[in-house]
Amino acid sequence: MRATQSVLHDYVDPKCLLCGEEGLLTREHKFKQSVLARKFGRQKLYVGSKEDFAAGTAKLAQSTGSKHLKFVSPICEACNTKKTQPGDRQFDALLLGLDEAYERGADPTAVFASERFAVGSVGRLDLLRHFAKIMCNFLADTSCPIPARLSTFAIHRSDRICLNIGIGENSDYKQQSTVAGDHPFAQHQGLSISGKEDLEPEYARCATSFGSLDIYYWLYFTSEEKSELKERYPDAHSKITDKIRADKEYKDLASSN
Ligand SMILES: [Zn+2]
Repeated sequence: MRATQSVLHDYVDPKCLLCGEEGLLTREHKFKQSVLARKFGRQKLYVGSKEDFAAGTAKLAQSTGSKHLKFVSPICEACNTKKTQPGDRQFDALLLGLDEAYERGADPTAVFASERFAVGSVGRLDLLRHFAKIMCNFLADTSCPIPARLSTFAIHRSDRICLNIGIGENSDYKQQSTVAGDHPFAQHQGLSISGKEDLEPEYARCATSFGSLDIYYWLYFTSEEKSELKERYPDAHSKITDKIRADKEYKDLASSN
């Protein structure tokens, strides 16, 4: 019988979470330093969850290179530089396009209709590679195995797009701006995995926010990924299904009140 090829992987330290190779390892920034510098200037940066900010326990980051602004799982130098730089550059271009749309009062989603990010363009492909890399980091930091099609796409070993992308309004920013007015704001909403009634994972979603806009992106799991998760990664599988169950119970409770 032919051995089935794995569709998930969980390379851990001292291996690169993206390519599985050992070598000079580094940690990916949650937000690009240049973007933070442009958005926040010389202001002091505080880092924390929504609850930390509400409780006044957010940590002061000493600089835009602070360890509090980096992922924990390592990636290798090559994956952090030449393999992913084209995607990082498109991410910069996306943010500039969104700023420009905001200043003109234009619909931000029109950025995806521009020539640079049109469906089928290299710009869109590389932009999605950037978000694939960030999602891989979030999966690794929460001890979830990574779909091989996501990591190979992130590091240019495949051109098969597996992520969807969208833009929406950030509710936290909207709430804060009613008190503080327009202000610099950056947020990662981390990783969430959603499922249906059977509690099996259906898709993974991440969102990155700058100012008033969320850039969100998501990946639907294939049936092969779902069964491999269940069989080869029982701990991660039960952690995910427990969370889906808890989210569902919370939603049911909220809708019954
Ligand atoms: Zn690597």
